[in-house]
Amino acid sequence: MTEKTNPEFVSDFFACNVFSDQVMRERLPKNVYKSVQRTRQLGTPLNPEIADVVANAMKDWAIEKGATHYTHWFQPMTGVTAEKHDAFLSPDGDGGVIMEFSGKELVKGEPDASSFPSGGLRATFEARGYTAWDPTSCAFIKDNSLYIPTAFCSYTGEVLDKKTPLLRSMEVVNEQALRILRLFGNTTATRVTTTVGSEQEYFLIDKGYYDRRDDLIIAGRTLFGAKPPKGQELEDHYYGNIKQRVSAYMKDLDEELWKLGIYAKTKHNEVAPSQHELAPVFTTTNIAADHNQLTMEIMKKTALNHGLVCLLHEKPFEGVNGSGKHNNWSLSSNDGQNLLDPGDTPQNNLQFLTFLCAIIKGVHEYAPLLRLSAASAGNDHRLGANEAPPAVVSVFIGSELEAVLDAVENGKKLKSTANREFEIGVDALPNFPKDTTDRNRTSPFAFTGNKFEFRMLGSSDSISCTNTILNTIVANELCEFADELEKAEDFKKSLKQLLVRTIKEHKQIIFNGNGYSDEWLEEAVNVRGLPNLVTTVDALPEYVKPESVALFEKFKVYTETEIRSRTEILLENYSKVINIEALTMADMSRKKIIPACISYTKSICDAVLSKRTIGIDATVEKKLAQKLSELTAGIVASTEELEKRIAEAQKTEPGLTLSRYYKDEVLPVMETLRAYADEAEMNISEDVWPLPSYIKLLFSVQ
Ligand code: ADP
Ligand code: MG
Repeated sequence: MTEKTNPEFVSDFFACNVFSDQVMRERLPKNVYKSVQRTRQLGTPLNPEIADVVANAMKDWAIEKGATHYTHWFQPMTGVTAEKHDAFLSPDGDGGVIMEFSGKELVKGEPDASSFPSGGLRATFEARGYTAWDPTSCAFIKDNSLYIPTAFCSYTGEVLDKKTPLLRSMEVVNEQALRILRLFGNTTATRVTTTVGSEQEYFLIDKGYYDRRDDLIIAGRTLFGAKPPKGQELEDHYYGNIKQRVSAYMKDLDEELWKLGIYAKTKHNEVAPSQHELAPVFTTTNIAADHNQLTMEIMKKTALNHGLVCLLHEKPFEGVNGSGKHNNWSLSSNDGQNLLDPGDTPQNNLQFLTFLCAIIKGVHEYAPLLRLSAASAGNDHRLGANEAPPAVVSVFIGSELEAVLDAVENGKKLKSTANREFEIGVDALPNFPKDTTDRNRTSPFAFTGNKFEFRMLGSSDSISCTNTILNTIVANELCEFADELEKAEDFKKSLKQLLVRTIKEHKQIIFNGNGYSDEWLEEAVNVRGLPNLVTTVDALPEYVKPESVALFEKFKVYTETEIRSRTEILLENYSKVINIEALTMADMSRKKIIPACISYTKSICDAVLSKRTIGIDATVEKKLAQKLSELTAGIVASTEELEKRIAEAQKTEPGLTLSRYYKDEVLPVMETLRAYADEAEMNISEDVWPLPSYIKLLFSVQ
């Protein structure tokens, strides 16, 4: 099947590989289409006869597009997606085949769950799991298979994936937000969805160099590498003009994403050399999560066609910025409102302020949960390292909006820029600037005009966990607000009291200054008492605290068992990642770096001897040989120490104790080893050094 991919005709091929709403409308009988629509928009269940009709239409469409297989595509706790492919074919009884696909096969699948991380759930519960179709996210075709987005659960109902809790959390926000809308007299909205646009950062490097770096191949980041003479200090890469090879890649990538119905929109160079960003147009959260997973996968695959490798690790290179993912989040109702848009009537403004205050309160009360939603071994290299937001969660709302909250809190009138006075709740808010003039890029949770941008996520993270947590937190606050306001005799009066109280109690979390400064860290922790959970190991235990468990259980997003299993999986993953990195370092050190040091030192010693035989002074060479010998000794000693500690880790109790061991006992030795090796690299000929340098990795793609 050849598709037109001339960019002039984007609209002709956009979503050509998606079983989209339009395709459904064309191919499904009217009543079936309507029923599917109801399911997609309102989350109502689909009846089995309808599922058969949909499955058949999907199969016919997929076969016309060249597909031979279908797969239930799901998101287990590995953080990447999983798939198992089945051909549509069935024997026809005469030695031939018929192409079949039933509603049952569409709706439910039974992959073997036993090899996916379950954090102890399998020990106590059923080993088997099943996948269930998520009809709100469209099926699509990739590599001759029909991909059906699905949720993944165990037979006893425990979630084993990232999609199920996300869908649950979207339901609870919907319910609670509708309660608030009703209080404001809204009778038209029947559904509130959370929307997300996730900006994705990545590095592109030459595959030839990548192939010669075991650390990049195994760990996704450089474990060795001396600093190049130039990093990002000239600030010439951010928004800089896009090099030809990169541009060709980006063009291809856009087209591949568009074919899958992903609204890839913005692309630009990022701060670090060889670093770039892609942002899509926002969409419903679970679709945004699916699309982000697909985007990361297509980014990597497309790079290979260009002789490039796309790195999604949070910190591939020391000394330059790492990569993150900005989770732009808002709430929208199906009567066309963005609930985080201040609006232009007094009624809308009050409604906006109510949602705003609920979010501020939620972030203040549950900051540790948001922090841990972005916790991983990779992201520990960024958060708090003066390039990404600090590990302390705070909310940026900008000075104009802060003045509004201040006026509400103190019952003051508000002066607009036009010098008119406003009273909140009586007049419409003065149109405060929503543009980006005082854009704060150092805040972890920033209001940006009509949405919040959560900036802590790591580039390789799934966005599901963050949004599950964020949705649940916000649902909880909206629920508390609704509980109070629904009982009120005088709605306006009670609302005012509620807002004033909320602002008073929670404005501590609002910070509009420079989040990278030391003064802020000091103030945040010592004056405001905000939690500073520096690493993954500090953050993860917050998950199982009674208040977190109570929150998730109240809204049936997670059971306590599920939270415990997730915490265990995340801790285990942290330890495994560092273990792999440590092993890779030891291996590279023994097989590449130490031999290079020895052979280069020998050649210098040879030079000393030859010079001496003909009576030339060899002081300089001798000094160098001496220095290299010392560095080699340091490398050997720290490699031995690292190996000793890796072995020790095997005897350590798994879970938090083991993760702590890796953080406190293994990571520091890795740093020491690297310091010796990087110093050696600076003193050894490029012809001898076994690894392509940072100069090659960061500056060679033209
Ligand atoms: P910046 O880099 O300045 O933050 P971008 O334009 O790169 O801005 O990214 C902004 C992101 O926010 C885009 O993905 C955009 O679609 C998304 N976005 C805009 N409005 C909303 C909304 N209402 N809900 C969720 N995301 C939104
Ligand atoms: Mg941004």
